[in-house]
Amino acid sequence: MQAKIIAIANQKGGVGKTTTAINLATALAASGERVLLIDMDPQGNASTGFGIAADERGLGSYALLTGEAPAASLVLPTEVPGLLMIPATEDLIGADLEFAQVDSREHLIERALAEPGLVGQFGYVFIDCPPGLGLLTLNALVAASSVLIPLQCEFFALEGISQLMRTINLVRRTLNPRLALEGVVLTMFDRRNNLGQAVADDVRAYFKADVFETAIPRSIRVTESPSHGKPVLLYDYRSPGAQAYVSLAVEFLRRQTLPAGLGAA
Ligand code: ADP
Ligand code: MG
Repeated sequence: MQAKIIAIANQKGGVGKTTTAINLATALAASGERVLLIDMDPQGNASTGFGIAADERGLGSYALLTGEAPAASLVLPTEVPGLLMIPATEDLIGADLEFAQVDSREHLIERALAEPGLVGQFGYVFIDCPPGLGLLTLNALVAASSVLIPLQCEFFALEGISQLMRTINLVRRTLNPRLALEGVVLTMFDRRNNLGQAVADDVRAYFKADVFETAIPRSIRVTESPSHGKPVLLYDYRSPGAQAYVSLAVEFLRRQTLPAGLGAA
């Protein structure tokens, strides 16, 4: 069985990439899937979000780029059974420049994950991308079989999306023809806010069935949980944010059984 590798990407920061990576991965693991989460953001928010301190991260995802250690040796456990992680270290900060002259530099993560015996242990591998469309995001898109795009329900949500879609199409034409769109997740949705609803309607009109029916509400528990080093599902299972990520996981799994390209329709 080959794992499905999913890049969680949007070049904008603060749209809910890391929150979705942490909590969708947790909800899938809770439903019995084996999941690997790879933190590719130099800020390491996904790693901190699982309470993995900077001095406990080992070589981290940076070593996927350098190939200095087997990928399997970089994997750490999390508090969530079935969910393992390759954390990020600050070494990633200089990656764009450091690897600028390296041959096949867009294929470094793909190559590292092709190591026999690692990815096959998992049903799903999520790669939490940094903001921007630099080398790290590009590597994730090349290694991935699909891309999941979180979009924050605010006025500028769709701004920059044409640029992201252009990048995805360029990757498809050149480096990774099998890259599919896993779907678009609406985040920080506030149904009492007319603007949020209008933005959600716009996004659904643009992406149609590729938008997950489940929208993640803005929830104070979601904001608080990373500072406790826990996914919101462990921090407050009953909170609306936690329940939304459970629903998203159910919908995500349901979509896996549909023929490619049909979305939720
Ligand atoms: P990104 O990874 O795209 O930069 P994050 O997932 O880190 O975005 O989210 C940005 C900020 O918004 C974080 O402080 C996070 O805790 C907060 N946040 C994300 N999703 C929600 C939500 N559903 N409700 C409340 N706060 C959220
Ligand atoms: Mg992030």
